[in-house]
Amino acid sequence: MLIETSKKNAICFDNSFVLLGSRFYASVKPTPVERPCIVKLNYGLARDLGIDLEVIEPEALAEIFSGNQILPGAEPLAMVYAGHQFGQFVPQLGDGRAILLGEVIDNSSFRRDIQLKGAGLTPFSRQGDGRAALGPVLREYIISEAMHALGIPTTRSLGAVTTGEPVYREKVLPGAILTRVALGHVRAGTFQYFALQRDEKALTQLADYVIDRHYPVVKKVPNPYLKLLEEVMDRHARLVAQWMQVGFIHGVMNTDNMAISGETIDYGPCAFMDTFDQTKVFSSIDHMGRYAYGNQPPIVQWNLTRFAETILPLIDKIPDRAVDLAKEVIEVYPERFQDYWLSGMRRKLGLFTSESEDEALVQSLLDTMQENEADFTLTFRGLCSLNRARTQADDSVRGLFADGAAFDQWAVRWRQRLASEGRSDLERQTDMRCVNPAFIPRNHLVERVIRAAEDDGNLAPFDELVNVLAAPYEDQPGRERFASSPRPEEVVKQTFCGT
Ligand code: AMP
Ligand code: MG
Repeated sequence: MLIETSKKNAICFDNSFVLLGSRFYASVKPTPVERPCIVKLNYGLARDLGIDLEVIEPEALAEIFSGNQILPGAEPLAMVYAGHQFGQFVPQLGDGRAILLGEVIDNSSFRRDIQLKGAGLTPFSRQGDGRAALGPVLREYIISEAMHALGIPTTRSLGAVTTGEPVYREKVLPGAILTRVALGHVRAGTFQYFALQRDEKALTQLADYVIDRHYPVVKKVPNPYLKLLEEVMDRHARLVAQWMQVGFIHGVMNTDNMAISGETIDYGPCAFMDTFDQTKVFSSIDHMGRYAYGNQPPIVQWNLTRFAETILPLIDKIPDRAVDLAKEVIEVYPERFQDYWLSGMRRKLGLFTSESEDEALVQSLLDTMQENEADFTLTFRGLCSLNRARTQADDSVRGLFADGAAFDQWAVRWRQRLASEGRSDLERQTDMRCVNPAFIPRNHLVERVIRAAEDDGNLAPFDELVNVLAAPYEDQPGRERFASSPRPEEVVKQTFCGT
């Protein structure tokens, strides 16, 4: 049966990364697992990838998504990379538990990596076991798919399986494997690995590879590598602005977790905040708050600078000139971030023109939210129901603030600003609902479905949450409880990377 399935070529691999040569990876097969069982398959994503899951027998699906069966055309490998982890440079990291099966060409002609995360030991596993536990796999599935539905560039989740084997963390947990899909898994850390070795040939190969794959337009300009830096800078400025606009905290923004493609990658101790707090940290290992919510924009600049350093020899043969050119690009970042952030925040407030006072208006709301411990998502979604004239609807928003009068004061300014736009309430409110989600993967909801799966083997709550989060901007009657902030006893204070 398995052989028949593979003959149908359910997944057509087309591998380009292997062509870079063996310095870039180690060929390694997934370690077979005992009793693979499908937890979730993403049929919609599979269709977009041109993968026909329906033609495959259920048992065969579990074999494929656990790595027990390698389909023809796949060339499994673990990528090598280095990286700054919490500011400390680690000369060699690499895929310690992720194995790239190969690439497929999706329906929009984009090349997409198909990778099994938790697929067993690789030459880069260091002290790790090469495995993943069910909880973190479900977390990544839920949050990455939610990010996609929110319209934020991200790796995707094609499937999750349990392995039938235990993994040993602080306690014994069920093992699982996630199938991750990315536009590309090359990281800033991949460049750092070759820069450390002063391997200019490999750096050029790698840069040309990411240009071909993600930034083909830069080939048209006289200095494509400088332009590459600018494009990567631009994508990451936009990405982090989008994170900030939904209250997302990545948690481990190490340079090895920064994808050159501009996708959000490596969902570990990430979290969405409930009450607004610029200094918010969830990750149990982020003791100094390096990756706190409000630090994310400058940390991206720090990471971009590390990336820029790696390609200096490609930017210009004269080192001083290369530094000057790269610096010019990196120095544009704060302004670029600010532009993306402010234009997004204007849309969140229903403003469609630009006025010089807008930044202060936005900042004043955020400050008021911070002082009054207002829920970030509920506040912005609540604003979508307010009219130009004060109505009863104001009560539900002001109720989110410890001091309702503080909100009232801000709302007076906001309404004055709205008045200068001359759009109807209905039109503005409809637009606002498209950028202010009702549903985000709140920590307590994620925690609850993981508990049900791990403790009781019940996956129904996981499925339901995934479904709700697939339409974050729609009001979903009957599902209001998924939009609520946690009750005090439900608040999750810390998240863990689970490795
Ligand atoms: P992360 O914090 O997930 O970005 O991982 C940092 C590094 O540790 C990467 O090189 C991972 O491949 C590696 N790693 C994380 N968990 C494991 C594990 N269970 N086994 C082997 N390597 C791991
Ligand atoms: Mg990582």
